[in-house]
Amino acid sequence: KSDQLHPNLAPMFDEVLERNPGEAEFHQAVYEVMRSLAPIAGARTEYAQWSILRRMCEPERQIIFRVPWISDSGEVRINRGYRVEFNSTLGPYKGGLRFHPSVSLSIVKFLGFEQVYKNALTGLPIGGGKGGSNFDPKGCSDAEIMRFCQSFMTELYRHIGEHTDIPAGDIGVGGREIGYLFGQYKRITNRYESGVLTGKGLSWGGSLVRTEATGYGLVYFVEEMLATRGEDLEGRRCVVSGSGNVAIYAIEKLQQLGANVVACSDSGGYVVDEDGIDLALLKEIKEVRRGRMKDYADQRPSARYVTEGSIWEVPCDVALPCATQNEVGAAEAKALIANKVHLVAEGANMPTTPEAAEMLIEAGVLFAPGKASNAGGVATSALEMQQNASRDSWTFEQTDERLREIMRHIHATCRDTAAEYGFENDYVVGANLAGYIRVADAMVALGV
Ligand code: GLU
Repeated sequence: KSDQLHPNLAPMFDEVLERNPGEAEFHQAVYEVMRSLAPIAGARTEYAQWSILRRMCEPERQIIFRVPWISDSGEVRINRGYRVEFNSTLGPYKGGLRFHPSVSLSIVKFLGFEQVYKNALTGLPIGGGKGGSNFDPKGCSDAEIMRFCQSFMTELYRHIGEHTDIPAGDIGVGGREIGYLFGQYKRITNRYESGVLTGKGLSWGGSLVRTEATGYGLVYFVEEMLATRGEDLEGRRCVVSGSGNVAIYAIEKLQQLGANVVACSDSGGYVVDEDGIDLALLKEIKEVRRGRMKDYADQRPSARYVTEGSIWEVPCDVALPCATQNEVGAAEAKALIANKVHLVAEGANMPTTPEAAEMLIEAGVLFAPGKASNAGGVATSALEMQQNASRDSWTFEQTDERLREIMRHIHATCRDTAAEYGFENDYVVGANLAGYIRVADAMVALGV
């Protein structure tokens, strides 16, 4: 694939392939960024002189550890834990933890790499990192989740801290898990160090809006994109994949703004509900009962549950992939384009393959990459850190307004940067270039 890159960058991509064999997702994330760097590949001699890009592709530190825990039936189980501290140029490492059976070093490195540029785009002082485990929380009891989290933190605690590395949630890690992780950190260190984790509960150092932030931020970003064409969300037909934290709060904000959300999904299948997704029912099933989309369809007469094909075959104006990486490939992009989709914005991390993204952009679809459009989550984590540092807590309105401002700022930065380099309306090039330049300039300043 390196033959499609600028000749100055191709050897660097080959080096990444060689140094990181078999890490397909990591290769994909690096490739996607490198492709956008062509406009500056020959121009910024100081970046070449100091090998900025080559240094950026190598994480500063990678931690892999054993996580033993005891199941309810008394069996000893063993999982693998990861924390990849990718880049601390702009601030302490910041990024979530993912608990999912698909988690591997490649997945954590791709997520960490993305996080570096996403965090840079927020304009806030946070570096990038990511972690997680191949632990599968599905079907585990609450006590098993607690024991797993405690064991995970028993190793992780020595690597993190409010000025060092601040984990948060991602797939499989929500408020409950952050609670067990924080409890264990506090127990081991004998420190009430609120700023060491974000996504905390409201009574113990959490921030209002953090739960809603990724989904709300995504929709604020979409509003900005539409506004550039004098359009809004009122009456728009929307499809949102996933039904986790990002999807639920994206749906909530879309509905508040008058859009009609007709489909969402989980790993078992998707639901089409022409009456509009019943958000209260969805929340009850997913957040309280920890159930499945099938349960939603069973309880809602207007809903149809589909296990074959893809949610992207459902016609819509606005498509928000909020499930997981690579859920929109060439076939799905083709279906979306055939159904005349107007806008696609990523709520998940890298849900669209580079090929699919290219197809959408070429077809004239407005397309937002996750590192810009889903940055509201980590941005609000940074607001949580600010509140912890000043031992303060802000109102919902205050925090939501900051989130809105940050999303507006990210949108403007992407657009302006894309335009500056002659890529009008290309949010992928804008986001990658703007994020990269912010980190690269700081790396030059800090020396090798
Ligand atoms: N996991 C989220 C992301 O992908 C949030 C990370 C955080 O809040 O640190 O950006």
